[in-house]
Amino acid sequence: MTYLDHAASTPMRERAVAAMMPYFSGSYANPSGSHRFAREARRAIDEARDDVAGVLGVAPGSVVFTSCGTESDNTVLAGVAGGAVCSAAEHHAVLHPIEDRADGVVVGTDPTGHVDLDQLAAACASPGVAVVSVMAVNNEVGTITDLRGVAEVVRRVAPQAVLHTDAVQAPCWLDLRTIAPLVDAMSFSAHKFGGPKGIGVLTLAPGIAVDPLIVGGGQERERRSGTHNVAGIVGLATALLETDAHRDRELVRLAALRDRLVDSLTGALDGVVETVPRDRKVAGSAHVCIEGIENEALLFLLDEADVCASAASACASGAMEPSHVLAAMGVDRDLALGALRLTLGHTTTDADVDRASDVVVDAVRRLRERSS
Ligand code: PLP
Repeated sequence: MTYLDHAASTPMRERAVAAMMPYFSGSYANPSGSHRFAREARRAIDEARDDVAGVLGVAPGSVVFTSCGTESDNTVLAGVAGGAVCSAAEHHAVLHPIEDRADGVVVGTDPTGHVDLDQLAAACASPGVAVVSVMAVNNEVGTITDLRGVAEVVRRVAPQAVLHTDAVQAPCWLDLRTIAPLVDAMSFSAHKFGGPKGIGVLTLAPGIAVDPLIVGGGQERERRSGTHNVAGIVGLATALLETDAHRDRELVRLAALRDRLVDSLTGALDGVVETVPRDRKVAGSAHVCIEGIENEALLFLLDEADVCASAASACASGAMEPSHVLAAMGVDRDLALGALRLTLGHTTTDADVDRASDVVVDAVRRLRERSS
């Protein structure tokens, strides 16, 4: 298996698996209880919260454990009343809640998928804008947002608004301590950085009030009810610490592998367009659009050859639709139908990228021969 779909989910880190194990058997108590075993579980959550806060650059009291990135995003976008603004390249976990609001505004992007700051300023100038959400790293094409520029616009034009960033794709690539001071709220999801699925984080800066999405027992200081997922929280914190410790080294290693992969594709095939320049995106992203093929057929051949990749197109009413991100970037519709997302991560090796390149080149040649 050649796994190049790390932006969808990256394998769990061994230390995170090991750290979770005790909470599936011995330490099974409900952390909200009043006895000694409950206090043990509570202590594990407190320690995890401190670790997470340290890596994210926020106070422990700002960390709210949720069930996933989608829940973290939805909580902010449903929990702040008033006008809402986001970029057209957001994940659907942000885009759909904003599109569903009568007072939601979606602003355009430049050709790299970066939110257009002039359009953002114009949208923020509408009276009543209460929340603005712009992602830190795009999940499809890997574009890194200039959050400093975004924050400058939002603080100047809509100082009353809560500024949220969906940072689900950021932890492997960006030092989150540089992002935290710019925004009021951030969303994360453990399975994107070597933790388990089904556990996420929302950070809320002091004084930022968001109505809870899930109410009940009042856990997480009334901000997210529901019995804590103790094993998940411990796994998330362990994976985040590891990711933070290895990030600098991994950035160099994976950028070199990504460059080798894309260079070998563009060297062997005509009509392969790198969607976003390398200096504007994260090291693990190798997004290309391939002329003269449809990615549905390409992914089928890759899957047959045990190469895991993704296209990020949605199949609506039987017809392949190009991704909303590529549409926002102004990529030609036919070219967008040939989009291929190969994403690298902590388990990716030289052999993975060489094999993936051979398989993609062979599959594209076969598809082009078939259609000519
Ligand atoms: N936001 C972004 C940018 C993502 O890439 C994803 C997952 O693909 C999500 C939100 C949703 O996260 P989760 O799978 O934890 O719900």
